Amino acid sequence: MKIRVHDKEFEPYLTADMISKRIKEIAADLSKDYKDKKPLFIAILNGSFMFASDLFKELNIDAEICFIKLASYKGTKSTGHVITAIGLDMDIIGRDIVIIEDIVDTGKTLSEFLPQIQHQQPASVKIVSLLHKPEATVYPITISYLGFSIPNKFVVGYGLDYDGLGRNIREIYRLAE
Ligand code: 5GP
Repeated sequence: MKIRVHDKEFEPYLTADMISKRIKEIAADLSKDYKDKKPLFIAILNGSFMFASDLFKELNIDAEICFIKLASYKGTKSTGHVITAIGLDMDIIGRDIVIIEDIVDTGKTLSEFLPQIQHQQPASVKIVSLLHKPEATVYPITISYLGFSIPNKFVVGYGLDYDGLGRNIREIYRLAE
């Protein structure tokens, strides 16, 4: 069934069940790859809060998590520049870092954030993203752990908003034609 968020109609796309199954698979891979490494997960707010929480709960290794806030979106169009609102307050020298993103669209956000992280000399940096829109790529980003590759359509739900609303929806919806 279609839903309305602000002025736009959205149609069901990824069910809560599909999302949680995929998260379990990704968490199993991460738990295997980072066993005994005590990785530090850096979740990028706001959109990734729900994904980060569900993913982190499924890990069965020692791991830490912290949060950073970056924004490059207003409405359904990128504003074209990245703003850092809450900075990283952890020492990451020599740490194995896993960045948690909700969605990689043009790649701009991560292309600006990754050098800031690399500059602080971590042991390694990998990216886990719930969603990726390959057709929208402007700045190529290597996503080591990916939930779903999706077409270039605006999505809401499961932490992702449309102008502030829709984050509390359990499923992911996409803009209806
Ligand atoms: P990028 O910098 O890769 O172009 O965009 C990344 C950020 O834009 C994401 O973290 C997310 O906040 C936002 N974004 C990109 N595509 C969508 C989308 O389809 N829906 C929503 N709600 N946000 C998106």
